[in-house]
Amino acid sequence: MTTESASSEVRVHTVSPELPRLGMNVQPILWVDNVSVSFEGFKALTNLTLQLDPGELRCIIGPNGAGKTTMMDVITGKTRPDTGRVYMFGQALDLTEKSEAEIARLGIGRKFQRPTVFENLTVFENLELALKTNKGVWSSLFARLSSEQSDRISQALTTINLTGRVHTQAGLLAHGQKQWLEIGMLLVQDPKVLLVDEPVAGMTHREMDRTAELLQQLAGEHTVVVVEHDMDFVRSIAKRVTVLHEGRVLAEGSMDEVQNDAKVIEVYLGSEAAQREQEKAC
Ligand code: ADP
Ligand code: MG
Repeated sequence: MTTESASSEVRVHTVSPELPRLGMNVQPILWVDNVSVSFEGFKALTNLTLQLDPGELRCIIGPNGAGKTTMMDVITGKTRPDTGRVYMFGQALDLTEKSEAEIARLGIGRKFQRPTVFENLTVFENLELALKTNKGVWSSLFARLSSEQSDRISQALTTINLTGRVHTQAGLLAHGQKQWLEIGMLLVQDPKVLLVDEPVAGMTHREMDRTAELLQQLAGEHTVVVVEHDMDFVRSIAKRVTVLHEGRVLAEGSMDEVQNDAKVIEVYLGSEAAQREQEKAC
């Protein structure tokens, strides 16, 4: 962010005494602070609090209806919370005061479950469009790419492993490749935080392994939040896991810690195991 945009965007808040749970001097890049959302009286999120370290890979799990999608909607500005705040960079920015477009420009990229690539365009054209759309200047679509923009596209191509398919029409890609292309379309926008909803739904085992590598590779430089139902996949990438249930954080910790948490077993992993047993019995 340039100094100029920083001065117009940043609203300084007094630092809350509960800041931070993180290591010394490390401010959360994203802080969902005591957020509640209700739909016609039904509480989808209840005093939800969550902090993400810069560069971490966080998995969010929880049964259907736990509030995972609503949480992402609140972070990205699609849904306004009834109460609570969502901060970025410590408490420097309050995202609940920003529009969806502003939040995207601040560096929060979201990948929805279904790939939304432009099937008639090539891999390269999809990436080019994503890069230019983010600038919000449609006339620039007809301008030539700067060398920095070209570098960003080739870097993204390497990361998503599609360099060899650069001129392939996106509609001809395999399902997994489309998902990676969509991640690439976020990457060219240089996001700080990537929110990824059920990335491996419908993927083959090979594609899942490649996606696990990709997400792990993206962490560090980016903060990556993965909502996923496939527990084997979560196990394969998990560092810190947050379990949501009925709009609240039920447990948080390493995969081992949450897996052995009695409350989690009861509401989620237990029912998953029961379901598997039932499937086996059929
Ligand atoms: P998850 O993604 O964990 O499955 P959601 O965030 O989609 O959960 O939903 C949480 C709860 O809020 C669910 O009970 C859902 O039915 C309800 N909900 C979500 N969006 C709406 C909406 N727009 N109107 C009414 N209820 C909603
Ligand atoms: Mg959902």
